[in-house]
Amino acid sequence: EPRTIDSRRAEEDAAEATLRPQTLDDFVGQQASRENLSVFIQAARGRGEALDHVLLHGPPGLGKTTLAQIVARELGVGFRATSGPVIQRAGDLAAILTNLQPRDVLFIDEIHRLQPAIEEVLYPAMEDFQLDLIIGEGPAARSVRIDLSPFTLVAATTRAGLLATPLRDRFGIPLRLVFYTPEELRRIVSRGAEKLRFDLTHDGAEEIAARSRGTPRVAGRLLRRVRDFATVGRKSAGAVDRILADAALNRLEVDAIGLDSMDRRYLRRIAEHHHGGPVGVETLSAALAEARDTLEDVVEPYLIQEGLVLRTSRGRVLAERGWRHLGLKPPAADPR
Ligand code: ADP
Repeated sequence: EPRTIDSRRAEEDAAEATLRPQTLDDFVGQQASRENLSVFIQAARGRGEALDHVLLHGPPGLGKTTLAQIVARELGVGFRATSGPVIQRAGDLAAILTNLQPRDVLFIDEIHRLQPAIEEVLYPAMEDFQLDLIIGEGPAARSVRIDLSPFTLVAATTRAGLLATPLRDRFGIPLRLVFYTPEELRRIVSRGAEKLRFDLTHDGAEEIAARSRGTPRVAGRLLRRVRDFATVGRKSAGAVDRILADAALNRLEVDAIGLDSMDRRYLRRIAEHHHGGPVGVETLSAALAEARDTLEDVVEPYLIQEGLVLRTSRGRVLAERGWRHLGLKPPAADPR
């Protein structure tokens, strides 16, 4: 796929791929989604039909791409991946759809960034496995209908609310991915260390897991960085334990509850410049020089889930726990 890649990103992608679970049984966490998928996959296989379309939504790094690949593998069908922003013209999508084999999985990442005109092409494809294309221009233009192989669209989005209702309604299997528990992340970290042949103790894995923002992608990244610190600049060769992991994570500026420097800048901004809020996300985005989407998709969901920030109708508010985390005292209740 055409895609902008710098070498660092490519390296991280390759490292992630090696940590990717291959089967539903290997996939840790997301129990509700996993159980539902397992039933629907077995049923579809039994009937020899394409699985119903699946919509995966949740913050980045929780396993949407991984699950999509697993679905294809468990169905025993082909897997094709693209993403909303990559599909520029209806013809791009048509080319992909007409090349699918019966019951294949087509994965569209960031489907909320699909252009509306292209969404229109997707509707009959999803519903009736048909493609309505306009060929030519002006008075010579005519529409042709092409039959497609039955296929399964697995789409991913950070927030289901970003999708137009008619699109959202066309997914028979909507699944919401949630942040992972520390124990789930601990299992992911331990398994990752095994795959990397990195000698990490149980409590070392716990330490990394507790500081991974509930997110397997972050856990994998921290695991690799901790391993770097362990290979370079250490005298003894033994297993990496909690104390060593803690030292490495501190050097990476990942704090005790797993917040990184961006998270802390965000919290401090609300505390120090807005007396704890409420403050609009646009204002924060401008002040922090960070895209609004990044704040809403990457930064805020975890801070909100951890009770550090509240999202109110008037804007973002620093919660009591947010003040305490910064080592600050919340202002006395407004006397008005
Ligand atoms: P998303 O598509 O939601 O952004 P990915 O599927 O790309 O997330 O997952 C990011 C990384 O986290 C990958 O390296 C993947 O292997 C790992 N990962 C995600 N979910 C799990 C899981 N349940 N168990 C183990 N590793 C996981």
